[in-house]
Formats: sequence, C-alpha cells, structure tokens
Amino acid sequence: MSSNHDHSLIGFGTIAVHAGQEPEKWDSNQVVAPISLSTTYKWERAGEKPNHTYSRSSNPTREALQQCLAALEKAKYATVYSSGVAAGMAALNLLQAGDHFVVDSGSYGGTLRYMKDICVGKHGLLSTVTDFLDYEHFAEEIKENTKLVFFETPTNPMLNIIDISKVVRIVKEKNPKILVVVDNTFASPYFQNPLSHGADIVVHSMSKYINGHSDVVMGAVMTNYPEIHQELRRIQNVGGSIPSPFDCWLALRGIKTLHLRMEKHAQNVKILAEYLEKHDGVEKLVCVALPSHPHFELNNRQASGAPGLISLFVKGGLEKATCFLNSLKIFTCAESLGGVESLAAHPSQMSHKELSREERERLGIKDHLVRLSVGIEDHRDLIADLEQAFKKVQEL
Ligand SMILES: *Cc1c(COP(=O)(O)O)cnc(C)c1O
Repeated sequence: MSSNHDHSLIGFGTIAVHAGQEPEKWDSNQVVAPISLSTTYKWERAGEKPNHTYSRSSNPTREALQQCLAALEKAKYATVYSSGVAAGMAALNLLQAGDHFVVDSGSYGGTLRYMKDICVGKHGLLSTVTDFLDYEHFAEEIKENTKLVFFETPTNPMLNIIDISKVVRIVKEKNPKILVVVDNTFASPYFQNPLSHGADIVVHSMSKYINGHSDVVMGAVMTNYPEIHQELRRIQNVGGSIPSPFDCWLALRGIKTLHLRMEKHAQNVKILAEYLEKHDGVEKLVCVALPSHPHFELNNRQASGAPGLISLFVKGGLEKATCFLNSLKIFTCAESLGGVESLAAHPSQMSHKELSREERERLGIKDHLVRLSVGIEDHRDLIADLEQAFKKVQEL
C-alpha cells in the first residue's frame, strides 16, 4: 500500500492494520509506527523546506494516523484534533460571520453547546436547530444564506436513524454548495460511510469506537474535497487543536482491532437487546439491531450493522432506574461509550443534566431512561449482571 488512495481494492481489516503505516516510511523499517516526539525538524539547507517543520503543523505519527483514518472512512483526506468537539469546531470554522447553518436537535450536547455559545453567541453565525426526522420541515429551514447542515446518525441517546441520502438530496436541490456534515461517531466507519451517501464532510469523536479503549480523547474530520481539506489543515495548524504523538500512536493501535471489536459489539448488543426486550423489568427498549426499531429498514440500507448501544426505559420510574444502575457490577456507571468495557449511563442525571426537563422530554429523555454501551465481554456474564440487577430492582 503506497498511498491512502489505494484502499478501494482491499478489505477494512487490512486497512485498519496497515494503512498509513508502511514500514518503508520509517528510518529503520519499523513494523509499528514510531511515536515521533520531536517538536522540530532539521532543515538540510536554509531555504529548502523539509516535509515536517514544526510538530503543530505536521508530525509523522499524526500523518500516519490521518492516512489510516481517511482510508477507513473511504475518504481521500483526514485531519485529527485534540477532541471530538474540536473536530466539530474545525468543521464549523469553515464558516464565517453572517453564514447560516442548520443542525439536528438530536445532535451531541457538546456540539450544540459550542454552536450556541460560541458560533452564534460570539462569532456572528446564524443557526436553526430543528428535528431532521421531520424532513419537510427541515427543508423549509434551508435559507438563502445557509452554508452548512450538521447532524449525526444514529443519534444520542434515542438512537434515531436519519436518512443521509435524503438529507443530501433535499439540501443539494436547494443549493449544491451547502456542505452536508455528518457526525459518524456512533456507527463508526466500520458500519457506515456517510461520504458514500453524498455527505461532504464526516466528523468523528475518536474517543468512542475508533480508539475503542476509553483511554484517548480525540476527533477527526474526513472529506474528499482537496480545497476543504486544505482549509481544515490550515484550521488545524492555525487553531493548534492537535492531539499528542503518543495519543496518535494509541489511536493507531486501537484502530487495528476496530473491525473485530465492532463485530463483537454488534453480536453482544443483539443478544442483550433480545433478552431485555422480553424482560418484565423493561418498559420499553430502543436498539438499532432489533426489527422493533422504527428505522430498522433504513439502517439496514444505509449501514452494514448496528453499534453496541441500547436505550432502556426501566419499568417503575426514577427510583427503580437508579437502583438498577447502582446494582450493576460488570457494567460500570459512567459517561461515554464505544469502549471494550460495558458502560451504563443515566442521561437525565449525567450527559443531559444541563437541559431543562422540557428540553429533555422533547428529546425523549425521561428519568427512567438508562443507556447501555455494550462492550466486548462474554455475553453470558453481561446477561447475568443485568439479571441480578433486575432482581435487586424487584426487591426494592
Ligand atoms: C462524544 C461525542 C462527541 C464529542 O467528542 P469528544 O471526543 O468527547 O470531544 C461528539 N459527537 C458524538 C456523537 C459523541 O458521542
């Protein structure tokens, strides 16, 4: 593999293990990409600029990661940032004061907060927040000065699926120049490639499935347009929101098993969701892997699988949901998702606590909603853990 453009002929697992990491690239033919810590690089002669000059602008370990990520997302180009939020920020920094953008109300809270407080609150951008699932209404929100639309699918925590091709069609009919940006964090590049459905830019929080080991905070932006990529590189360098070489190396290491992890997450989530759907202690459950999901067919068309997420309404309200969470032993009560370990979160008291009750209700986030991120442990142990927690709930 001599370049990151050659990936069309080879499979995902091969890309995950090798792309951007050819041993011939390094001084000693290292099979594993070295962690390149030097902040600065020698100029052989003054006036002859070397490949790398200063590590904020470019760094060999980061370059390797960016090439690998581009290949995974079937994109020509990728840039990485020091968090997923910073990746979204880079995409929004493509806009200028007076530009309008439309964002889905189900988007990640941190992204919405950056848009509202900084982009609109301080930098003179104009925004409309709306529910993209109401496609007709969404179409009406696209205005003369709209320059970008932003959404994620599946959404958090309700796991709604937004039709990427349909959004692209609606937007491009109005104005082909409007950029369609998709946050692909939940599906991961293993299950879904939004650029293949006509999106212009993909954003990831790599802190979730891509790195997958809950030990790196990082973000990425992918695109096929050289002029957008050049601008993103400029934003990366000028803004300085870059990840460390060590974190880039950890992410490269995590990515090597992305395909294996996603397969296992998908297997486990299906088994657990089927068990939970029949369980007495469950009022309602949302999981993309089950035919009962309202957008199951759409997801099957647009993605090749379902991530390891379950949104679970525990029968009996807040008290029972709290007891359930406190009784889990293998599932750890913690924020975040997409790691090898199973986590359980309580959106109304954790990720979505800042919202008012009305705002939460509008998003479907009730007090007895528990979100599970199903890891890659043995599914029998995970089911036993859920079962013993439900027993505690019953005894309450
Ligand atoms: C976590 C997350 C983000 C933010 O990423 P960080 O790495 O935490 O900054 C953005 N979008 C989605 C969908 C996420 O889950």
